[in-house]
Amino acid sequence: MRGIDRVLAGDFAAAFAATRPPGHHAATRQPMGFCLVNHLAVGALHALETGGIERLAVVDFDVHPGNGTHAILGHDRRVLEVGMHQQGLWPAAETVGPASVALPRGSEGRVLRRAWQRHCRPALVDFRPGLVLVSAGFDAHRDDPLGGLGWRDADYGWLGEQLAGLGVPLVAVLEGGYEPAALGCAVPAFLAGLDASRDRGGGS
Ligand SMILES: [Zn+2]
Repeated sequence: MRGIDRVLAGDFAAAFAATRPPGHHAATRQPMGFCLVNHLAVGALHALETGGIERLAVVDFDVHPGNGTHAILGHDRRVLEVGMHQQGLWPAAETVGPASVALPRGSEGRVLRRAWQRHCRPALVDFRPGLVLVSAGFDAHRDDPLGGLGWRDADYGWLGEQLAGLGVPLVAVLEGGYEPAALGCAVPAFLAGLDASRDRGGGS
C-alpha cells in the first residue's frame, strides 16, 4: 500500500514488494496454495478507494493462475486482469479472467513474448489504466521444481522492460518461485528490466 501511494504520488515510477508468503491464490476468507493474504488485491482496493484513479490493470505472470485475485477483483469493471500461465496447471484456468493466456507445458521464452505482444500488451494499452499491479511469480523459470515452463532470467528482464515501457505507475509483488538460486537471479533480472526501460525514457 505504501508503494502504491508513492508511485501514484510520482515519487517513483515503480516499486517492488518482496512479499512472503505469496498472495495470489488467497481469496477474501480462504487461504490457499501457500497464500494467506492477497497482497495485490488489498493494494488494488486501496488504490481504487484512495488513489484517485478510475481504472487499474493486474498483470499476473506466475506459472499458476491467480484464482484468489480473480475471486476478489474479477467482478470489478474498474479492473482489467491480464495473465500468462501454464496450461492445465492447478488450480485450473477457468479461475482467472478471459484476458489470461494459457501456455503449453515446456514452452520457452519466445512463446511468452509472442503471447505478450499479441494479447497482453494490446489489452493493457486499450484499457488505459492509471496503475499497473503485477503478480510477479518466478515459478515459470526453467529451474523451478513446481512449474513446467522454460523461461530464463533474460525473459524476466524482457518482461520488466515491457511493463515499464507501458509508461504507467507500477507496483510488483513477489508471488511464486521455489528454487532459491533461480529466484536470486530472475528477480534482479526483472528489476533491471524495469530500470533499463526507464533509463531510455520509458520505451514504447
Ligand atoms: Zn505459482
